[in-house]
Amino acid sequence: MTSDADSNDSELWFDDGTVVLSANKSRSGTLVRFCIHKSILSKHSPIFKDMFSMPCPNDIDLYADIPLVHLPDDAEDLRAFLKFMYDPCFMPVGQYLPESPTVMHGPFKLATKYQADQLQSRILQQLRLDWPSSLGGYDCRLKSFSRDPTQDRKVFSPSIPLPEDYKPYMVISMLRDAPCRQEAAGVLALAYYETACTLSFAPPEPGFLTDDDYLKIIIGQESMAKRIRHFLKPRIQKSCSQHVAIKGLCDIPQFWDSFWINLAGRHNFLYFLSEQIDVLQEFTLPRPCIYCSPVAQSTLSACREDLFKFLSQAYALIPTS
Ligand SMILES: [Zn+2]
Repeated sequence: MTSDADSNDSELWFDDGTVVLSANKSRSGTLVRFCIHKSILSKHSPIFKDMFSMPCPNDIDLYADIPLVHLPDDAEDLRAFLKFMYDPCFMPVGQYLPESPTVMHGPFKLATKYQADQLQSRILQQLRLDWPSSLGGYDCRLKSFSRDPTQDRKVFSPSIPLPEDYKPYMVISMLRDAPCRQEAAGVLALAYYETACTLSFAPPEPGFLTDDDYLKIIIGQESMAKRIRHFLKPRIQKSCSQHVAIKGLCDIPQFWDSFWINLAGRHNFLYFLSEQIDVLQEFTLPRPCIYCSPVAQSTLSACREDLFKFLSQAYALIPTS
């Protein structure tokens, strides 16, 4: 059935096309048609290759004398998927792009569905540039989001606007069930982590996360708090390391007391740890002495590194060692 609102895509409509694909926009229900090439689709996807290698039935639908195939996918997702095939420049390229998941969610879903492995790898490559596998790289990602360099690492705060189109939860919906889930565990873990950090003030749009995802987030937060305690417990100083007159002026026990008090109720643990390092560097109370402060700072830095490496385990994305 056709309606007045149906349209042919202005860009993905080739006069020498050999197949017309149609799909409905999920928001408006409007039908959109794309006149493209069987050869291009077959090159990227074995599913389309099989579809086109079957003999044409006599009652096949035609549009302008060209075979017409209606797909159950969202027209906008399909458009972006086809654009990725025809125009590699259409795909975002760069590092720490906050909008990557929004742009690539639809194409990735269809690349998975139609087994377009090369496209899927290309998208994964971009996601790895966005979510680096080292803590130093990750700090650079957060820094790149912040216009004010003094707000370094404070990007997940209700008082600081998130970058436009920043939707880390879309990566969870992309990768959760994808065949490449294992190799993308690091990216997926950071997507869960950032979703957990922003949940209370930038909740995910409905339809992307499942009950299991929310449970993973809750359990992940708990595992991380336990991990911090496990790491710090044998390393923290209960009294001043100097047995000199300065001892009476050292606040190291009070520092750790207030550390645990402040940890409770926090979500962004990586930021919290860096904030505590800042507390030690600045002249705020409680203030450990010049001997204890550097030790505590390096312990907290090591704890951040440990926690960052632990993320994939916290969200149960890789087997626990
Ligand atoms: Zn001390």
